[in-house]
Amino acid sequence: MPSVAPPIVAIATAPGRGGVGVIRISGSRLETIVEGLIGRPLTSRHAHFARFRAADTSAIDEGLAIFFPGPNSFTGEDVLEIQGHGGPVVLGMLLRRCIELGARHAEPGEFSKRAFLNGKLDLAQAEAVADLIDAQSEAAARSALKSLDGAFSLEVRALVDALIHLRMLVEATLDFPEEDIDFLNAADARGQLGDLQGQLARVLATARQGKLLREGMHVVLIGQPNVGKSSLMNALAGEEVAIVTEIAGTTRDTVRELIQLDGVPVHIIDTAGLRATDDVVERIGIERTWGAIAKADLALLLVDSREGVTQHDLDILGRLPRELQVLRVFNKVDLTGDVPGDVARDVVHVSAKTGEGLDALRQRLLHQVGWFGDLDGVFIARERHLDAIRRASAHLDQALTAYEQVELFAEELRLAQNVLSEITGEFTSDDLLGVIFSKFCIGK
Ligand code: GDP
Ligand code: ZN
Repeated sequence: MPSVAPPIVAIATAPGRGGVGVIRISGSRLETIVEGLIGRPLTSRHAHFARFRAADTSAIDEGLAIFFPGPNSFTGEDVLEIQGHGGPVVLGMLLRRCIELGARHAEPGEFSKRAFLNGKLDLAQAEAVADLIDAQSEAAARSALKSLDGAFSLEVRALVDALIHLRMLVEATLDFPEEDIDFLNAADARGQLGDLQGQLARVLATARQGKLLREGMHVVLIGQPNVGKSSLMNALAGEEVAIVTEIAGTTRDTVRELIQLDGVPVHIIDTAGLRATDDVVERIGIERTWGAIAKADLALLLVDSREGVTQHDLDILGRLPRELQVLRVFNKVDLTGDVPGDVARDVVHVSAKTGEGLDALRQRLLHQVGWFGDLDGVFIARERHLDAIRRASAHLDQALTAYEQVELFAEELRLAQNVLSEITGEFTSDDLLGVIFSKFCIGK
C-alpha cells in the first residue's frame, strides 16, 4: 500500500434529491478532515451522529459519520463516510468543505481503482462493481454480484494455475535438451494442453452468457405504422418488466425501448422513423438510429399477415448491413388462417394480440444470440475478458504447433498466462487501467 495517499472526495449517491446523501472520502491522514468537519475524533466503525461544520464552525448539515481505518475498508485506505441530507446544494457545500480541508475531487472510478491497487479487489471484481450498478436486468445484477464475489476470478485463477503447472513441466525439460520431447510425451503435455483448451472453451461459453447479460442484445424492428410493433414489444415484455425505459430519439417517435427476455436485456430499436427528411433534429435522430443498427445483433421485420412485406420494408432491408441476420415476423395471425408459432426458416407467425406464437419467437430470439437460458454459475463478463480468453486459446494453439520446438512451446505458454492474467489485472498496463476506470462514474 502506498504510504501516503492524498485524500479524495466525491458524492457517492446519485445526483438529484433523496432522503440521504453520502459523501465518501478516502486517503491517508484523514484526521485533519475529521477534526475540521466534525470537531472531534471518531471511534472506528461506529456510526456517530454529528454536526458537519464550516470553517467558521457554523453548521452546514447534520447526519451520520462513520470512519473505517485502512486497511479494512473498501479502498484499503482510511475511509470517512458522511451521510447528510440528500440535496444537491447541501451535498455540494459538504463536498467543498472537504476540499477546503485538503481533499481533492475524485476522478471517475478512483475509489475502485485504489481498491484494486491496494489489493482489495482484483480487476474483474472492480469491473463487476460498475456492472452491478449499471445492471439492466435482475439476472445481470445477480451475475455481476457473482463476479464481485470472485466467481469469475476463481475460474481464471484455476486456468492460470493449470498453465503454471504445465509451464513448470516444460521449463524443467529445457534443462535437458536431449530428452525433452520424450519427457513431455511421458508427462502427456499434449493431453494437458488439450484439457486446458477444453477449460478455456467452457469459461469462454459462460463468459459469453455473462456478456449478453451485461450488454443485452440489440434488435432492430422494421415495420410500417400499425403492423403491431408497440403491441409486440409489450407482449414480449410480458409480466417481467413492461417497458423499462423509453428514450425519445426523434421529435416524432420513440426510437428505442428496453425489455427483458428470460433476464436478458433486449434493446429494441424502432426504425419506423427512418425516412427522408429535411428536419435537422430528426436527421440527427435518424443518424443515431443507423448507428444503433450497425451494432445490432438481429433485425425483426414485422409485417401485417394480411398485407405481407411492403416496398418500404424492402427499401430499409436493402440498406441494412449485409451480415445482419433478419427474421420475418408475420403478425396478426388471429386475423388470417396462418399457423401461429410456425417457425419456417426465417419466418415466425405470431399474434401480438392473442399471444399465439410468442413463445416460439422468444426462443428463436434468444437462440439466435446464443443464450443457453441457464443462469447457474453465469458471472458477468465484458468483451475485454472474452478477448483475453480467445487470445489465450490462440497461444495454446500456437503452443501445440510448436510442440517439437520446446523453447517456442514454453514461450507460447508464457504468453497465454500473461494474457489470462490481464483479466484479473495481475498482468496489466497503466493504459488499460486508465481505460477501464475512466468509464466508471464519479464516487465509485
Ligand atoms: P405499431 O404502429 O406498429 O406500433 O402498431 P401498434 O402496436 O400500435 O398496433 C396497431 C393496431 O394493430 C392496434 O389497434 C393494435 O391493437 C392492433 N394489433 C396489433 N397486433 C395485433 C394482432 O396480433 N392482432 C390484431 N387483431 N390486432 C393487432
Ligand atoms: Zn408503435
